[in-house]
Amino acid sequence: MTEHAPPAPKQPPADEADVIVVGAGPSGATTAFYLAQSGLDVLVLEKSRFPREKVCGDGLTPRAVKTLVNMGISVGEQDGWVRNKGLRVIGAGKRLELPWPELASYPGYGLVRTRLDLDETLARRAQQAGARLFEGVTVTGPVLDERTGRITGVVAKAADGGEDRTYRARVVVAADGNSSRLSVAMGLRKRDDRPLGVAVRTYYTSPRHDDDYLESWLDLWDGDRLLPGYGWIFGMGDGTSNVGLGLLNTSAAFGHTDYHALLRKWLEGMPAEWGFTEENRTQPIRGAALPMGFNRTPHYHQGLLLVGDAGGMVNPFNGEGIAYAMETGEILARTIVQALARSRRAETERVLAGYPHALSQAYGGYYALGRTFVKLIGKPTLMRFATKHSMGRPALMRFALKLLANLTDPRGDASDRLVNGLSRLAPNPE
Ligand SMILES: Cc1cc2nc3c(=O)[nH]c(=O)nc-3n(C[C@H](O)[C@H](O)[C@H](O)COP(=O)(O)OP(=O)(O)OC[C@H]3O[C@@H](n4cnc5c(N)ncnc54)[C@H](O)[C@@H]3O)c2cc1C
Repeated sequence: MTEHAPPAPKQPPADEADVIVVGAGPSGATTAFYLAQSGLDVLVLEKSRFPREKVCGDGLTPRAVKTLVNMGISVGEQDGWVRNKGLRVIGAGKRLELPWPELASYPGYGLVRTRLDLDETLARRAQQAGARLFEGVTVTGPVLDERTGRITGVVAKAADGGEDRTYRARVVVAADGNSSRLSVAMGLRKRDDRPLGVAVRTYYTSPRHDDDYLESWLDLWDGDRLLPGYGWIFGMGDGTSNVGLGLLNTSAAFGHTDYHALLRKWLEGMPAEWGFTEENRTQPIRGAALPMGFNRTPHYHQGLLLVGDAGGMVNPFNGEGIAYAMETGEILARTIVQALARSRRAETERVLAGYPHALSQAYGGYYALGRTFVKLIGKPTLMRFATKHSMGRPALMRFALKLLANLTDPRGDASDRLVNGLSRLAPNPE
């Protein structure tokens, strides 16, 4: 009897995969994690190398904690995560501490972690699940089927030079963040009728670095106009605080605000002992956009699927983007797994085309409400009225926390049912 060597495990060719994910931020890493876990060959192309910076407030609500736990990431304090108990709101001369609600659906605590750490943790988790991550590879454009115009891959260049390479896959995911060049190259631009925020942030050494509440300031003034947005102070637990502010494009001040000056002016009013002064600043002040309320659609077009900031998934009520980047990553991965398991191309297509509907089911009504909310608070008189009349009413503010942070149980108490009911009733165009 002749002995045969066992067949070598089949290695996919380096430039082909079932799915290409462009970008390894929270949305790309989460999509890749769930795809790889289901046994698909996933190639993630990321232009930077981890660990890398990302301009962010570094704040994670209980929604984000849940997504981390779902991925099997250990979120204990011994692993470098800083816990918080809730949100402290300061406005109209008042100060309210609102603990995160007690719910079955979400944990009762939030976290803080630098994006330097968080994004690397997520990317490595995707790798552990089997995703192939190529760092230092910038995608420069789509590869299209000449006859149908469908995306069949991408062209990319490596940071260390060399020739452009082509990568091919059955579907391509745009997880390349707010500017999403890949979506633009496929004709998908930002929608002007949807909200957009701009925010700046920096870090200061401060005795407040171990604050166990996330802090939010509603009083951002431009002369006598109260601006729609808020300032934040999040203790990083490492001797520094992440301090920043964000504004919405629904106010007249949006296009012509000097964000750096506004930040400095806001901080000048803080107690000196908190240390938010130029001498204690440890990083440059940096800013970026927050694409909100589905501001780029459709989320599926010609073989390209949009996830996270690329698809404008930031919550318009509070500017939170990480939880939604990760949640939409999971929804997308589950759609792709089902689609690629179908034997006929038309069937695959039908499943992929269901992705925008799945997103709309999950967030459409809530984001439609959010879009109305940002229009209303864009009017300075309304913003001032709302701040003045809600800050003195803790019960109303507890309800506002549930609404603004999207934290309810499906069959929870009366306030949960009100938030859920409003989201269901809101007109919900895809
Ligand atoms: C100032 C500020 C503060 C914020 N604070 C918070 C907060 O406290 N909490 C919160 O939940 N959210 C916050 N957000 C929002 C949050 O940062 C985003 O919603 C989140 O990062 C979205 O994740 P993403 O993976 O979709 O995109 P990103 O995190 O932007 O990741 C995109 C990735 O794609 C890569 N990439 C881009 N182009 C290419 C290319 N051509 N080829 C290969 N790779 C590419 C990038 O390098 C990057 O790694 C804040 C945003 C800003 C601007």
